[in-house]
Amino acid sequence: MTETKQFLGPDKDHFLSEENPFESMMSRFDIAAKLLKLDAGLYKVLRNPQMQIIVSLPIHMDSGETEVFTGYRVLYNTSRGPGKGGIRFDLGVTLDEVRALAAWMTWKCAVVNIPFGGSKGGVICDPLKLSMGELERLTRRYTSSIIEILGPDSDVPAPDVNTNERMMAWIMDTYSMHKRHTVTAVVTGKPLEMGGSAGRREATGRGCMFVTREALKQLGLPLKGAKVVVQGFGNVGSIAAELLQENGATVVGVSDVSGGLYNAAGLDVKDVIAFREAHRYVTGYPKADAVAGEDFLTLPCDVLVPAALENVITARNVPKIQAKVIIEGANGPTAAGADEILDKKGVFVVPDILANAGGVTVSYFEWVQDRDGWFWTEELVNQRLEEIMVKSFNNVLEVSKRYNVNMRIGAYTLAIERVAAVHRMRGMYA
Ligand code: GLU
Repeated sequence: MTETKQFLGPDKDHFLSEENPFESMMSRFDIAAKLLKLDAGLYKVLRNPQMQIIVSLPIHMDSGETEVFTGYRVLYNTSRGPGKGGIRFDLGVTLDEVRALAAWMTWKCAVVNIPFGGSKGGVICDPLKLSMGELERLTRRYTSSIIEILGPDSDVPAPDVNTNERMMAWIMDTYSMHKRHTVTAVVTGKPLEMGGSAGRREATGRGCMFVTREALKQLGLPLKGAKVVVQGFGNVGSIAAELLQENGATVVGVSDVSGGLYNAAGLDVKDVIAFREAHRYVTGYPKADAVAGEDFLTLPCDVLVPAALENVITARNVPKIQAKVIIEGANGPTAAGADEILDKKGVFVVPDILANAGGVTVSYFEWVQDRDGWFWTEELVNQRLEEIMVKSFNNVLEVSKRYNVNMRIGAYTLAIERVAAVHRMRGMYA
């Protein structure tokens, strides 16, 4: 298969490979930097990650053998506050991907204006093939290997693809054992009983629901009866689907790694969740037709929510996409090469760094509550989340109108402007 390549910005020797998430991110960064007339020095600073760590993680497997895994943590930029970003456990993890995700966290925290920088971590592994004991040893070894950079004031991890509350509890415990006292604010997305926040688990999906509502409002379309297709049925996709349905939308398609489901009359999302809980995957759910992976994103709908992994919407499948609105629940689901075609088709895209920012926003609330030792009701969390999501949506819309660009470039422009402003104020220590 030939790789799609696209000329990239001012550097004539630099070509964009569609599948490389860091370059995908940087090509959008370049457009925003140009709009902002970012000075050459700051441009160089913001294009480079602050710190990148690679660790080897030897683990005793249940079989008695030793296995060595590779882990990464990238602190992209901490000028606005501690590094903030999840840890993913996946076979597809690469340093390039973690670096892109860390940069996206930097822009995301700036878009919603919370006092964090951006970071991300990853471990190359197939968590489905690891026992609970092996997962715990791997999580703890990873934590202790990067312990110098972790801390409530320096770098605060959270869940991401294939990591969850239980693993955040192990991270909190490992860090606290090293420090000789309990430090709840070192990690977010923890269980409620040990300093987690009400509403954190649902926050990313809830944020997607709020921005879907705002996007449809902009287009003069009602949420009631809007046909929605959700790709990915994990923590983000399943909650987004459930909340969109609760708010009147008709969820006609959902999918996970096993395949897709379609029912033109609408699926009962709670029922699909119950089926998935009983059978692990959505495939086999009786009250829907099965749809193959490549046909799923092009199903007829008003709103498409890609909520799985990177690079699923590409120059190759965009021409067939029927949605009027795309809500990026995942990080980087749209390859840069697809942006222009989406614009030409008039698709309204709410970009990842805005659409899925609900998760890190409630992570921020969790960090604040941990440091205060004073916990909020779920109602208050959801209300504050709604305020931030709606305000951020409108801020991005305003910037995109001001510069006459799409919402993605609007979001990058707003974020880079905010990060750059702090760099200018702080000056350079050299
Ligand atoms: N992993 C989530 C994200 O990509 C949440 C990060 C966090 O809460 O720190 O936004």
